[in-house]
Amino acid sequence: LRANSLQTSPKLVPNALAALLITLTLALASSGLLLWRDTRRRLAAEQALREQHAFRKAMEDSLMTGLCARDLRGRITYVNPAFCEMTGFRADELVGASPPLPYRVPGQRDEAQRPEQIAGAGSARHGYETEFRRRDGECFPVLIFEAPLIDEHGRQTGWMDSILDIAERRRVEEINRRQQEKLQGHARMAMLGEVASALSHELNQPLAAITSYATACENMLREPGDARRERDAAGRRAHAAPAALRAALERIRSQSERAGQVIRGVQAFVRRRRIEREPIAIDQLVHGIEPLIRLQARKWEAQLVLDLCQSAIVFGDRTMLEQAVLNLTRNAAEAMDGLPRASRRLEIEAGPYHEAGRDWIRVAVKDCGCGIAADVESQLFAPFFTTKPDGLGIGLSLSRSVIEAHGGKLRHERRAGRGSVFAFVLPRHRAPATPASAADEPVAAA
Ligand code: ADP
Repeated sequence: LRANSLQTSPKLVPNALAALLITLTLALASSGLLLWRDTRRRLAAEQALREQHAFRKAMEDSLMTGLCARDLRGRITYVNPAFCEMTGFRADELVGASPPLPYRVPGQRDEAQRPEQIAGAGSARHGYETEFRRRDGECFPVLIFEAPLIDEHGRQTGWMDSILDIAERRRVEEINRRQQEKLQGHARMAMLGEVASALSHELNQPLAAITSYATACENMLREPGDARRERDAAGRRAHAAPAALRAALERIRSQSERAGQVIRGVQAFVRRRRIEREPIAIDQLVHGIEPLIRLQARKWEAQLVLDLCQSAIVFGDRTMLEQAVLNLTRNAAEAMDGLPRASRRLEIEAGPYHEAGRDWIRVAVKDCGCGIAADVESQLFAPFFTTKPDGLGIGLSLSRSVIEAHGGKLRHERRAGRGSVFAFVLPRHRAPATPASAADEPVAAA
């Protein structure tokens, strides 16, 4: 009888092989899974890339701006359809072309060819104007914006130019400029006519007086015999002739001065300086010239009352507007001459105002003076119209020119009771005002 044990020692090799097989099967299954996930991701990424590419191409093709990419040696690597249309060359003619490029005009500015640009120092986008030449030889102005092309390592690989054809813009600008010049010419002629007629009217008076006083002097000098006879006959008249002569000469001098004053006024009126606009808070503007207004008020012993809104901001030339306000306050203060002192009140009001569907800032200068008669009212703003013996009559017309040059209106409003109101409106400005510089010297009224 022979007995064998069923429990033999484990067989290492077949067991190890079985384990390896199982491990490999599991690894194969998991790598298959990973591959499937990776393929799905890649397909999705490729789809997104295709969509993005199609979108970018559609965008580039629909652009009106020409695009042209160049490498650092100036060789063209890409152009878009707008660029081809602009220059008249086909894309395959341009891509790969090296300087001199066929659309470049020799001698014209080419920033990308400057050594410092080629070195790739700048990363800022900047624009410059130059000229391109179409395939048919016609030259046209362009505006070029250059931006560096940077690869994923941050190195500059070339330049991307965005090109705008500005021929049409130049044409419109030229037409506008010519029209503007024509308009200014007409306005100058109209103004010249107005000034000339006012000037001749205004100068006639002192010139006529000068002529008659000069004739009188001549007569006195031409008749020394008569004068001597008068002196012989009556000793009292002995010094009459030189005294009369002196008086006549004095009048000639004062009339000449007056004529000179008129001419200086015309010069100030006609001389136009460039308007320098900035946002201005009206309350700050008035406070800036308050010392001058107080001087005017003190001269005519009037009380100054200010009612100024702080949010009243306009866009204009500070000096010119100060001058306009000072002209109005001077007139208002002068108009109260002769009134009992207690009732001399000069008021300045400023605040927002709505008229004709627009937002304005209204500045009103009120007095309780003599008021304005109907026949005077119609001529108030005419140059050289004055009712004052020493007036020049240019304050109101000058102020109106200033306000109108700012897109506003200056008008006289009747005041219930006594006095008058001169008010101007200016378009309201929304941005914050520029603070008045402490160094700003308010300018005295004309
Ligand atoms: P001027 O003050 O040199 O006369 P203006 O052009 O400033 O010149 O004024 C013209 C005229 O308008 C004045 O002479 C005056 O008759 C009248 N005027 C102006 N402002 C007032 C006012 N606030 N009240 C009454 N009359 C005025």
